[in-house]
Amino acid sequence: MTSTAVGVEIVPSFVQDAWWTPEGEVAGTDVRDASTGAVIAKVSTEGLDLAAVVEHGRTVGQAGLGKLTFHQRALKLKELAQYLNGRREALYELSHRTGATKIDNLIDVDGGIGVLFTFGSKGRRELPNAQVIVDGPAERLAKDGSFVGEHIYTRIPGVAVQINAFNFPIWGMLEKFAPAFIAGVPTIVKPATPTGYVAAAAVKFIIESNILPAGSLQLVSGSARDLLDHLDYRDAVSFTGSAGTANMLKAHPNVARGGVRFTSEADSLNAAILGPDAVPGTPEFDAFVKSLVTEMTAKAGQKCTSIRRAIVPRAVVDDVVAAVGARINERVVVGDPRAEGVTMGALASLEQLADVRAAVQSMLDAGGELAYGTLDSPQAKQADGAVGVVEDGAFMSPLLLTWADADADAVHSLEAFGPVSSVIGYEDLDDAVRLAAKGAGSLVATVATNDPAVAQQLVTGIAAHHGRVLVLNREDAKTSTGHGSPVPHLIHGGPGRAGGGEELGGIRSVLHHMQRTAIQGSPNMLTAVTGVWHTGADQNFGDVHPFRKSLYELKIGDAFRSELRQVTLKDITAFANETGDTFYAHTNQEAAAANPFFPGIVAHGYLLLSWAAGLFVSPEPGPVLANYGLDDARFITPVAAGDSIRVTITAKKITPRETDEYGEVAWDTVLTNQNDEIVATYDVLTLVAK
Ligand code: NDP
Repeated sequence: MTSTAVGVEIVPSFVQDAWWTPEGEVAGTDVRDASTGAVIAKVSTEGLDLAAVVEHGRTVGQAGLGKLTFHQRALKLKELAQYLNGRREALYELSHRTGATKIDNLIDVDGGIGVLFTFGSKGRRELPNAQVIVDGPAERLAKDGSFVGEHIYTRIPGVAVQINAFNFPIWGMLEKFAPAFIAGVPTIVKPATPTGYVAAAAVKFIIESNILPAGSLQLVSGSARDLLDHLDYRDAVSFTGSAGTANMLKAHPNVARGGVRFTSEADSLNAAILGPDAVPGTPEFDAFVKSLVTEMTAKAGQKCTSIRRAIVPRAVVDDVVAAVGARINERVVVGDPRAEGVTMGALASLEQLADVRAAVQSMLDAGGELAYGTLDSPQAKQADGAVGVVEDGAFMSPLLLTWADADADAVHSLEAFGPVSSVIGYEDLDDAVRLAAKGAGSLVATVATNDPAVAQQLVTGIAAHHGRVLVLNREDAKTSTGHGSPVPHLIHGGPGRAGGGEELGGIRSVLHHMQRTAIQGSPNMLTAVTGVWHTGADQNFGDVHPFRKSLYELKIGDAFRSELRQVTLKDITAFANETGDTFYAHTNQEAAAANPFFPGIVAHGYLLLSWAAGLFVSPEPGPVLANYGLDDARFITPVAAGDSIRVTITAKKITPRETDEYGEVAWDTVLTNQNDEIVATYDVLTLVAK
């Protein structure tokens, strides 16, 4: 950081692979400690050339990432996760200034690092060690198989711009960065002003780790109002923040007409529905109340996934309010996160506090009633342990509202982005579904019930209005990751008011940074483009059995064809007796012949697979280390006694493992009979030494 005229540090940007701060004296925007109001930093982008930042990503960033495969990128994420893991304390420390408590830090800092670990692992397990992803099987487009088509994914040729909200400066950055990085797309991070200094500290660690290729990560600290002016159809923006800003950015000509990919995650009035069976005294009722209090108070309720509407049977509204109030009284201590015992910190800024209070006032004016808490500044514990009202601290009491009219517009449309929730009563399950849908599209809902029929009716009723639904009951109450925590494996995002975007969801989020293209051509050409052997492409039946070749000697298309072997009734009977599989199709001529699929007794499919292994194997010790499974096995033509089979294997996909002395080889395997009819097809999966 460099200092301004008033001696406050300016949060630096990291652009074009160098740290940058404005030259000379700049006014900048103040950034304050959320609990004390003290100015702790300034941000300014005065004089920053955003066009050059974008260009750097598109050129240097694309080039560096383009040298790596999915697996190599995934490994770097794992390395980065390990590096950051050792530096969490420093990030926690800084994060306390944003009002974040220890638990909030676990969500933001550890959660963000967790996303890197998950993608580091998924990228290697679920993607090829390549740069192209083949999507689905090839379609035969000509009768003779000389013309085929399929879909491939390649990375978009521009930059992934993230415009982030203030609430999760680290998780918000890393959950968007990880999938873009695996895809091979350079990222430009634009954090929100009030907490951007925490993101900058994390970026500082990332850069000093020296793990990432040049240009793959840039950071713009401060406002970046003209950023979208420099983007075009090659680029993608993922926005998190208010619906107002999302709508404004969506209308930018480069998005509306220029083809910039834009995904947003904005306001969301998430619901939690209490099933009619979950009456007070049940584990589901307790889990529901616990979840509601957690969601109101974690991050001081500044979570896009927080429960804003608790939809409960009308008869238990008062019970829910009482139980929530009791739990807050028992557990929640508002104050500076640096003070011992504090469980709910400040909102991110005084502006945010004013916004939330104004939203609550509008809700009260529209018919809401305060059932717990007050709008006055609460007694807050300060860092030195003193308790009192802190004028410059963005503290707020948790607030629970009730509504005489469950249909009041305000409860379904106003998001008070703080520790605020409403309890509304429903008549029956249809009514609960109808009320949940009044949120007009949400990120997440919880359904708390131990009745499978209730779960089925509620979940199928509300699913299309939500990006994620948690079914909470006594079986998962302890192990559940919670209503408000998106997990990297599953989708985060939601329809309608929630922004209509989708993030995370495992490898899906990598694909969001890639273009799907239909490619058509001959099997040889599609093999060349994808690196995966296609049926009908050339095969190399050389003198050397492909099992005798090491991973690096083996080439796609290397193949082996066996001799024919005849199957007798004796073989089939012996296999039936040996394995105990005496299913009538293999043992009873009359019953087998009556079956529409068989001419009479036929060989077991597993007999054919076992024989095939015996026909294609090269038994001496060699580079093939193990067979770890079969994919997509299909039995097509029955084999009767007297028929013969042969097997042809072809090296289809070769995947070197980055960290092991071996790799994976998938062998296209085809069994044919004496008439060259296809008997069975599958892929044999082996591990082969390098
Ligand atoms: P904003 O929508 O104002 O800001 C979000 C991000 O967008 C910030 O990084 C901001 O940068 C940036 N931004 C704003 N205008 C532009 C622009 N013209 N061009 C480029 N970037 C821009 O939201 P706030 O953070 O102020 O939060 C306001 C409300 O948003 C909250 O009260 C809450 O209701 C909602 N919200 C929703 C979240 C969700 O996940 N669904 C998360 C957080 C907030 P800068 O900080 O520099 O202005």
